[in-house]
Amino acid sequence: MADRIAPRDDLAMMDGYHSPQVSVDVRLNTNESPLPPPQAFLDAVSAAAATTDWHRYPDRRAAALRARLAALHGVEPDQVFVANGSNEVLQTVSLTYGGPGRSVALFEPTYAMHSQIARVTGATVAEGFRGADLALDLDDVRRVIDGSRPAITYLCSPNNPTGMVESAETVAEVLDLVEGTGGLLVVDEAYGQFAPWSALELVSEDRSLVVTRTYSKTWSMAAARLGYLIGPSWVVAELEKVVLPYHLDALKQAAGTIALDFVDDMERRVSILTEERGRVDAALRELPLEVWPSAANFILFRPHGADAGDVWQALVDRSVLVRNCSGWPGLSGCLRVTIGTTDEDDRFLTALREVLS
Ligand SMILES: *Cc1c(COP(=O)(O)O)cnc(C)c1O
Repeated sequence: MADRIAPRDDLAMMDGYHSPQVSVDVRLNTNESPLPPPQAFLDAVSAAAATTDWHRYPDRRAAALRARLAALHGVEPDQVFVANGSNEVLQTVSLTYGGPGRSVALFEPTYAMHSQIARVTGATVAEGFRGADLALDLDDVRRVIDGSRPAITYLCSPNNPTGMVESAETVAEVLDLVEGTGGLLVVDEAYGQFAPWSALELVSEDRSLVVTRTYSKTWSMAAARLGYLIGPSWVVAELEKVVLPYHLDALKQAAGTIALDFVDDMERRVSILTEERGRVDAALRELPLEVWPSAANFILFRPHGADAGDVWQALVDRSVLVRNCSGWPGLSGCLRVTIGTTDEDDRFLTALREVLS
């Protein structure tokens, strides 16, 4: 056989996204909602499937969905960009404003896809680091932004995997720094409904800020792959030029629009999960662990005197899957558990007590 073609040189060292999908009874590794959307939503989506013009391309502008999202957030439809999960939103931002010869700043530990997408799209990653308490360190933010003049700077609030929320003052200060060097600030709010405030408040036509949201977590629609961004219309217009035409299928557009008829159900799920998070947090604090306080639907913890990989495997052996974060920058020995149903969380806590005893 002739020589096999190799991928691009700059991809040669890449690992790819690593989150094993192991078949277990209790899956608490990807921060999905443990609760499905309401039956009335499923019925409406089925009806929409039956009346979709399957032989026609979908509405390329996703006008109905964008209008509803705009109304939800009190912005204009041309300030909304929708895509196949917030990962595709982030990838489109990277293709538009990142890429070869440009850098993307982020502050580890944070969501792994921010650096992954930056690298795949050819940008240089300008890495900053959080402090020992895993809070954002504004001195380091200044160092990275002044040193690399990044095209794109990422914040994530609540941050995955720490669960910490950035304050309004912090985000405003980072935005000033970013604008000072002509960059764009992306605030990833995948868990935004759990937070006490949102950077959506700061979005306006004359600020270089976009906020991303997803249907994958609080909306209980991870299977649908739908996410969006709220930002200035001049950013959205550029993203629309870059994204593939007809990238968002008709049924997904309908499902995303219908979901917005069920805001109350979504908010009820958020409050159930917030209460359940308090219960799991309290139980974890009885065990020999370091536990970080979370404002999202997951909790980061570090077993004392036990290898995180061994604990992860021992939980899998008991049919409970959590996320092993010990290979992430600054997180040696750490695991992250998603808040599930009461039953799932009890199974996790029972297994963990057994493993650590
Ligand atoms: C889960 C998650 C997402 C979601 O990505 P989708 O592509 O919308 O499923 C985005 N950002 C963060 C920080 C996440 O944890």
